[in-house]
Amino acid sequence: MPDVDVAVIGAGAAGLSVAAISAGLGLKVALFERGEMGGDCLNYGCVPSKALLAAAHAAAEARRAHRFGVRVGEPQIDWAGVRAHVAGAIAAIAPNDSAERFRGMGVDVVRATARFVARDTIEAGGRRYRFRRAVVAAGSAAIVPPIPGLQEVPFLTNETLFSLPEKPGHLVIIGGGPIGLEMAQAHARLGCRVSVVEALSIAAREDAECVAGLRPALLADGVALHEGARVARVEPDVQGVTLVLEDGGRITGTHLLLAVGRAPRLDALGLEAGGVAFGPRGVATTLALRSVSNRRVWAAGDIADPVGLGPRAFTHVCSQHAGIIARSMLFRLPARVSYDALPRVTYTDPEIAQIGPTEAELRAAGRTALTILRWPLAENDRLVAEGRAEGLVKLMVDAKGRLLGASLVGPGVGNMAGMFALMIGRRLSALAGAVLPYPTAQEAGKRAASEFYTPKLLSAPVKRIVGLLKYLP
Ligand code: NAD
Repeated sequence: MPDVDVAVIGAGAAGLSVAAISAGLGLKVALFERGEMGGDCLNYGCVPSKALLAAAHAAAEARRAHRFGVRVGEPQIDWAGVRAHVAGAIAAIAPNDSAERFRGMGVDVVRATARFVARDTIEAGGRRYRFRRAVVAAGSAAIVPPIPGLQEVPFLTNETLFSLPEKPGHLVIIGGGPIGLEMAQAHARLGCRVSVVEALSIAAREDAECVAGLRPALLADGVALHEGARVARVEPDVQGVTLVLEDGGRITGTHLLLAVGRAPRLDALGLEAGGVAFGPRGVATTLALRSVSNRRVWAAGDIADPVGLGPRAFTHVCSQHAGIIARSMLFRLPARVSYDALPRVTYTDPEIAQIGPTEAELRAAGRTALTILRWPLAENDRLVAEGRAEGLVKLMVDAKGRLLGASLVGPGVGNMAGMFALMIGRRLSALAGAVLPYPTAQEAGKRAASEFYTPKLLSAPVKRIVGLLKYLP
C-alpha cells in the first residue's frame, strides 16, 4: 500500500498550492522541503524585491515631489531601516506558507531533501515514502555563468542579495533582465552606484518601444548601462571586484550581482531512479504537466518544461500549474497549460507589462496580418494630474479586432495587466464599450481599444447614414 496519496517535492509557490488543494480534497499528502518554506518568491524573489523597490520608489517620489511644489530635499537612506522593511514584509507573509499552517491542513511537512529511489518511492530524512502520485516542484536557482575568474571573487545572487548587511557602494550587475533591472533601479534610488552589464540589450525579451520608455528612466536614476557588453573575465580588486570586458573596458565595483537567468534545480532529485525524464530546461512534461516517462509523476512551477512551451519562472504560473494539476491529477479531467494570455511585469519605474506575445513574437510566429493600436499615456488625464504622463499602451489585434497581445510601459501599468489578460482572444469591442472609472490610467487601455473602431465609425459611409438619419423625426 502506498504511504501517501500525493508526495510534493518543494514548498515554494507551486508545491504549496498543490499540497493545499490535495489536502483540502481529503488526500493524504507529504510535502518535502529542505530550505525555507515559501521558496524563492517569499524569501529571495518577488516579496523582498518588491519591498526593496517600494523603499526605492518612495525615495524617488521624495526627490521629484518638487513638481507638485512640495520640497523635501534629498532623502536620507537608513539602510538598516530599509532592510528591516524588507525583512518585515517577508515575516508578515511567511505564516501563509509556514509548516505549521500546512500541518494544520493535515499535510505531513518533512523538512528534508527528498529524492526518488524508485518509480513510486521517495526517500527523505532517512525514511521511504511510497506514493500514488508525486509532484516535482523543486524550482530553479540563479545561473552562475562560466566566466573565467568568477569562482575567485565573492558574488551575490538573488538568494544572498537581500541578506547583505551593508549597503553596496557600487553594485555591478551582470544581466539586464527583470532581476538585473529591478535591482539596479532599487539600489540606484537608494543611493548606491550601479552598473549593469548586458550581453544583448536590456529587457531583450520585451517590446522595443516599451524598453525605449524604460531606458532613459534608468539612466536618469544614475544606472550605468553597458549594453552589448561581453565579460571576458572577473578579477578580485581592493575595492571588491573588477569586470574586464571583451572590448578591454574595466568596471570595478564593491559588489557583484549575477542576474543572468535561472536553471531548474534538478540535482539531488534522483530523477533517473524515479524514471522521470528531464532536460536542461527541466522535467519534461505533457501539456497537462504530467511526466512524459512516469505516469505517476507531475511537475509544477519553474522546474516544469511542458513540451513545446518551455518553462516560465513566474509565481502566477505556479498557481496556474497547480490548477492544471488539480484538474488532471486529482479530477482526471482534460487540462492543458497555455501561455497565450500570460501576463508578466517588470516592476521598474516605469513598469513594463507584457500580456500574451509581443509584436516581435507574433511576427516571428508568422502572424503578419496584425493591426497595431497605440495610445500614448501622455494623453491620460490621471497621469497628467499626477505629473507622470509618460508611456504607451500598444495592442496587437487580428483582423476581427481580437486581442492577441498587449505591451505597456508607464508608471504602474502592471495594474492594467489583469484587464488585458482577460481580453486576450476576445474582440476589443468589450473593452472599447466598457465604462471605466475616470480618471484612471486604465482608460488609456480603453482608448487604445477604441482606435480599432474609430476609423470605421468615422468613415464616409457611416457619415452618409448619419446624415440621412438626421431627417427622421
Ligand atoms: P533573464 O534570463 O530574464 O535575463 C538575463 C539576462 O542576462 C539576459 O538579458 C542575458 O542576455 C543576460 N546575460 C546572460 N549571460 C550574460 C553574460 N555573461 N554577460 C552579460 N549578460 C548576460 O534572467 P533574470 O533577470 O535573472 O530572471 C530570471 C527569471 O526570473 C526570468 O524567467 C524572469 O522572467 C523571472 N523574473 C521575473 C520577474 C518579474 O516578472 N518581475 C522578476 C524577476 C525574475
